[in-house]
Amino acid sequence: MTKQRKAIALISGGLDSLLAAKVVQEQGVLVEGINFFTGFCVEGHTHAIRKRDRARPKRNNALWVAEQLGIRLHIVDIVEEYKEVVFNPRHGYGANLNPCLDCKIFMVKKAHEWIREHDFDFIITGEVVGQRPKSQRKDTMPVVARESGADDLLLRPLCARNLPPTRPEREGWVDREALYDFSGRSRKPQMALAARFGFEDYAQPAGGCCFLTDAQYSAKLTDLWQARGEKRYELDDIMLLKVGRHLRPAPHFKVIIAREEGEVNYLKGYRGQYVNLAPVSHSGPLALIDGAASDADLRLAARLVARYSKGRAAPEVEVEVRQPGGGVHTLKVSPMPPGEIPAEWML
Ligand code: SF4
Repeated sequence: MTKQRKAIALISGGLDSLLAAKVVQEQGVLVEGINFFTGFCVEGHTHAIRKRDRARPKRNNALWVAEQLGIRLHIVDIVEEYKEVVFNPRHGYGANLNPCLDCKIFMVKKAHEWIREHDFDFIITGEVVGQRPKSQRKDTMPVVARESGADDLLLRPLCARNLPPTRPEREGWVDREALYDFSGRSRKPQMALAARFGFEDYAQPAGGCCFLTDAQYSAKLTDLWQARGEKRYELDDIMLLKVGRHLRPAPHFKVIIAREEGEVNYLKGYRGQYVNLAPVSHSGPLALIDGAASDADLRLAARLVARYSKGRAAPEVEVEVRQPGGGVHTLKVSPMPPGEIPAEWML
């Protein structure tokens, strides 16, 4: 009796990983999915808290992909281990703070550890030769296989026929002829394959699977490291960089101001950890203080909060300042005129 072969597919939630897993599944291989949570993922609970995202499906696309495929999905928290990849990528960063090549190597390495622990045979990714300038080039494909330790147990079903045969192909676990030879940046072959499989409602291809590819997000992370004098972050730091307006009036503190109701509700969850401000004489946003702010700093922050409240044109706005430990006091301030907010404060 032939042995049932088992593969783990890296599932980001995008179309490529969905198709790659499906192609192998169609060949009778038992496929399960693995999704790594780094804290920077676009998927997850900050996914659609803004009004402008209202039309987006409120779902975790990695889970959704697994549901479409009818497979188990293992979500693995790698927040702590991943920090080293972000701090010191051996292969450097992409256009922003995205360490894509090191990230791929790290995730495939984790997947390789996983298959050894769980007695699976090989690993699948949705990579396509030439799709991304930094991490998905013909010369970087062997780098990922080699430096992850997965070597020829790493199969890329969407472009396998452009690459040397891997062990799953050589041993006949999968039929190489039924794999694909996609290459380049065009998404048309993937869309045609999706149509053939009957997938219509997949996540639209975007710039990347994490916030590190975003220029504004990367600028905020750089600012955080500068303010701390070292590359360091905790999960809450990087989650908060996804939410609100960030203003840094001085190196030792910044103000995070909610832009709309969804963000107010999100920031409320942090009131027990951060000094927080909200106008009480007028309706307006909740703000958090990140850093050690003096009384004068808090007054300045209150003027900024007043500026973004309904009292922005009033001569005076009352702003409540709450300490995470429970102390509360109120400041009466004049809203800061927009023209007086230096552009360099806005992150
Ligand atoms: S976009 Fe982000 S998660 Fe995706 S490979 Fe690059 S660094 Fe990794």
